[in-house]
Amino acid sequence: MPTTGDVRIGVFVCDCGMNIAGSVDCPSLVEIAKSIDGVVHAEQNRYTCSQPGQESIRKAIAEHKLNRIVVAACTPRIHEPTFRKCAADAGLNPYLVEMANIREHCSWVHQDDKAAATMKAADLVRSSVERARRLSPQKEAALKVHPAALVVGGGIAGIQAALDLADQGHKVYLVEKSPTIGGLMARLAKTYPTMDCPT
Ligand code: SF4
Repeated sequence: MPTTGDVRIGVFVCDCGMNIAGSVDCPSLVEIAKSIDGVVHAEQNRYTCSQPGQESIRKAIAEHKLNRIVVAACTPRIHEPTFRKCAADAGLNPYLVEMANIREHCSWVHQDDKAAATMKAADLVRSSVERARRLSPQKEAALKVHPAALVVGGGIAGIQAALDLADQGHKVYLVEKSPTIGGLMARLAKTYPTMDCPT
């Protein structure tokens, strides 16, 4: 783990218009972020995933020599790849990016309680900063893949998986410990909805 002096974290608080700003006090969140050990820059953005938002991140990485960033915005399922690429474009290893979900986990679930939403958002940002502090740069490896698959278990799920893989053009090895395949299905006389079970 890098020592405290090595860490220069930037925190970007997205207000997502009223989506976040309607229930989270974003200016206060920025001030809280600034007070966290290792955070050397924090700012609020209108739509951080937009081109101006991303440009602001790239500019801050260069200006403040950031070596980790935390984006407090929506779920990472939506924009984590966006911010990883944005960091990479600014010369930062894309795996030195953390997110805090202050939209779904705070503003959306505490719409009627701004104080609670803001307090929870602050906790999430603190947690994300701590995670970011412990991150190390990662390198994506390119591995050679042997285009064949091993399916263990010759029940209906295994048979279907083997067929699907074969349809995609892969060589498939289907392994079954009993003398016949079919699993529990092979013991049934009829099944819904056809009410037959040809053997
Ligand atoms: S990054 Fe997420 S929270 Fe921010 S504007 Fe885009 S969609 Fe909204």
